[in-house]
Amino acid sequence: MIRHLTESTFVVRLGRNNLQFQTGQFILLNYVGLADQREYSVYSGENDDYLEVLVREVEGGKVSGKLKQLKVGQEIGVDGPFGFFRFDPQKFSSQKFLFIATGTGVSPFHSFVRTYPELDYQLIHGVRFGNEAYDLADFEKEKVKLCTSGDEKGDFMGRVSDYLFGQKIDAGTNCFLCGNSEMIFEVFDILTGKGVPVSNIYSEVYF
Ligand SMILES: Cc1cc2nc3c(=O)[nH]c(=O)nc-3n(C[C@H](O)[C@H](O)[C@H](O)COP(=O)(O)OP(=O)(O)OC[C@H]3O[C@@H](n4cnc5c(N)ncnc54)[C@H](O)[C@@H]3O)c2cc1C
Repeated sequence: MIRHLTESTFVVRLGRNNLQFQTGQFILLNYVGLADQREYSVYSGENDDYLEVLVREVEGGKVSGKLKQLKVGQEIGVDGPFGFFRFDPQKFSSQKFLFIATGTGVSPFHSFVRTYPELDYQLIHGVRFGNEAYDLADFEKEKVKLCTSGDEKGDFMGRVSDYLFGQKIDAGTNCFLCGNSEMIFEVFDILTGKGVPVSNIYSEVYF
């Protein structure tokens, strides 16, 4: 089943078929008939009885546009789970979490929060336009800062790195970054510049 969130971004819901994953991991999707497969972070929670991914259709892309056309009941190849961006809050001595995402990079954080609803977190989500705050209602409003670079419909106008630059970050915070590589490099430098040790920074690069 496809749930459209914007013109280009949608949630694909698949049968879980007993697939076990740890929140933060990704699966490989293979559109039947295409040789290529692509990675997608799991968007749903560990305890949901379905499996969801959040996908943005990339212009000229081979797989993402095909996924948008999936019909109910249509088969799709699923492989995995894979990846080390796994999240288990009990493994951290500090229970303070900072999640920083661009675009669909918010997907693993959606899964974190669905799996652990009691988390003490702050989410900084960077998008171009305010309507790209995907399923914002699934996060606690006061814990989210939406940064919009193309309109003024967020909480802050500018990129996540611009926002972060002006913030005080407790050095003990566990920081998770997900999205495009440019953001991740910039944010990594800002966080380490603010005294966050490298060992407290975890990242997942989409492209
Ligand atoms: C670990 C991991 C997890 C990922 N999780 C997600 C996810 O949850 N949701 C999601 O939408 N994508 C995710 N991606 C990206 C996804 O795997 C595909 O790269 C994306 O869907 C494009 O595939 P395509 O076949 O349509 O385009 P392709 O034919 O592979 O390539 C088109 C071009 O677009 C670039 N590109 C890839 N992704 C984007 C993007 N989001 N915006 C702009 N340009 C892009 C590629 O670098 C490439 O140059 C993830 C990637 C990785 C490595």
